[in-house]
Amino acid sequence: MLKNILNLPALGPIIRSTWTWRLVRLIMLALLLVMIAFGWHQHAIPGVKVRDPLMYSNFTTFNLWVLWMMGMVVVAMVFGRSWCTVCPVGWINGVLSRFGLRRELPAWLNNFVPVTLVLVFLQLLVYFFSIHRYPDYTAIFLTWMLILALVAGLIFRQRSFCLLLCPAGAVFSLYARLAPWQLRVSDKSVCVGCSAKPCISTEPAWRQAALGGMRFSWRTQPEGCPVGLVPAEINDSSACTLCLNCVQTCCNDNVSLGARRWPGDLNKQGLRFGETLFFLVLLGLLTANFAKVYVDLRESIFWVPETLALSLGWESAGFYPLAVIWVGLIFPLLLLLPGVMVYLVGQIKVSTLEGEPASAPRDVSVASILPGFMSFLGRLALPLIPLVLSAHFALAIVKLNAKFGYLPLALQDPSGVKSFLAINVMQTLAPPGVLVPLDVLKWVIVVILLSGFFLSALAARAAAKADSQRHDGTDRPFMLAALVSLVILSWFYGSTVVEWLFVR
Ligand code: SF4
Ligand code: SF4
Repeated sequence: MLKNILNLPALGPIIRSTWTWRLVRLIMLALLLVMIAFGWHQHAIPGVKVRDPLMYSNFTTFNLWVLWMMGMVVVAMVFGRSWCTVCPVGWINGVLSRFGLRRELPAWLNNFVPVTLVLVFLQLLVYFFSIHRYPDYTAIFLTWMLILALVAGLIFRQRSFCLLLCPAGAVFSLYARLAPWQLRVSDKSVCVGCSAKPCISTEPAWRQAALGGMRFSWRTQPEGCPVGLVPAEINDSSACTLCLNCVQTCCNDNVSLGARRWPGDLNKQGLRFGETLFFLVLLGLLTANFAKVYVDLRESIFWVPETLALSLGWESAGFYPLAVIWVGLIFPLLLLLPGVMVYLVGQIKVSTLEGEPASAPRDVSVASILPGFMSFLGRLALPLIPLVLSAHFALAIVKLNAKFGYLPLALQDPSGVKSFLAINVMQTLAPPGVLVPLDVLKWVIVVILLSGFFLSALAARAAAKADSQRHDGTDRPFMLAALVSLVILSWFYGSTVVEWLFVR
C-alpha cells in the first residue's frame, strides 16, 4: 500500500513545493475568470426558439455543470477533498484572510448549518431560474462565489468561505470519510516532542533568503491550519482540505499523505448535528434527482408538494419552496424513518414485574428527543455514505458519458452559439455521441450501485461492532436499522435504473 506519496522520488518534491500549488491555483483562478467572461453575455440565441440552447455548447455551463460537477464526484471518490487543494475560490479566501480583520469564526456558525442553507438556496435558484442551463446566470453565480470568498476572507481568519458557504466542500467532506486516501502525521510522539509546532503556529516569524553575497530577511505571518485543525489530532478525513500547508511547514517531515485501509472513517463516531442535517438535504435532493428519469416515481415523490401547491392555489413560484422543503427535509426523513423504527423496536427490553428493569429509565424529556434523534440519524448516516456516493457516481458517469463529447466544441467556440447553430439549425455538424454505448453503461451502473450497497452493508457491520457496548459484541438493532435503510434507498435507485435503462 502506498503509505506516503510525499516520499516518492520524483513526485514527492513536486507535491511538497508551495510553488507547485501556487501555480496550479493561479491557473485554476485564470480558468474561473475565463469561464465568467465567456458566460457573462450569453443567455440564448436571438431567433432560436429553444429555451436553453447554450446549456452544453457554451464553455461556462459545460465546464461548471458537466465537467466540474460530475468530474469532482469521480475524483472525490478516490482522493477525498483533493479538489480543495487546487480550488481557486478557497485559495483567494485563505490569502485574503491574512490581511483582513482576522476575526475568529464564531463557533455557532462553524457547524454545517450555514452551508446546508446555501445548498437549499442553490436548489431554489435551480428551480426558479434554472441557473445551470444559462451561461450568464452561471457566470453571475460564479462571480458571487468569488465576491463572498473575498468578503469572508477580509472579515475572518482561516478559510471561512470553505467552512461556512461552500456546499462542494461539505459534499467532499462526507465522501472523504470513505476515500482510500488520507493525510495524517506519521508519528504522533514526534509531534508531542515538537515545541515550535509551525504547522499550527500563527506567531509572526522571520524568513531569510540569500542572493549572491546578499542576505534578505522578512517577517511573515504564518496562517497555521486554514481550517483550525491540529495535524496530530486528526482522526477522520472530513475536515482536512488537503491544502498541504502542514506538509510544507512541518519542521520534522512528520506529515504523510497516502493510501489507507477500508472502511476509512466509516466505523468512527456518527455525523454531528449540522453534518447530519446537510446529509439529509443531500440525500433528499440526490434521490429525487436520480429518480427524475423514472416519470412515475418522480411524480410520486413530488405528489405531496404538487397537491399542496394546487390546493393552496399557488402557481409554480409557490410550488418551488414547498418542493425544496419536501425533497430536502421531509422526504429524506421518511426514507430513514423505517430504519429508525426498527432500531427503536430493537431497543425494547422485556422484563418481568418481579425482576429489576433491564436498565435505568432513560431521560425522555422533549428537550432530549431531537438531539437523541439527530444523533442516531448521524450514526445511521455514516454507513449509508457508500451507497449515496455510488448513486451520485452513477449520475455523474451517465452525464459525463452523454455530454463529454461537447468538450472540443466548447473549446473551439466558447460562446457555444456557432456549435449550436451548426448542429441544430444548419445541420452541418453531427451532435456529439456517447462515449460508451448505453447497453454497456447500464451494466456498469448496476455494478456501481451493487458495490455501493455491499460497501455500505460492510460499513454498517463495522460501525455496529465498533460502537457496540453490548455483551455479544455487535449492536444488532443498529445493523438491522442500517440494512432496512439500505434496502429502501436501493429500491429507489435500483427501480429507476431498471425502468430507465432496461425497460424503456
Ligand atoms: S491539516 Fe494540513 S492539509 Fe489539512 S487543512 Fe490543515 S494544514 Fe491543510
Ligand atoms: S506536524 Fe510537524 S510541525 Fe506539526 S506538531 Fe507535528 S512535528 Fe511539529
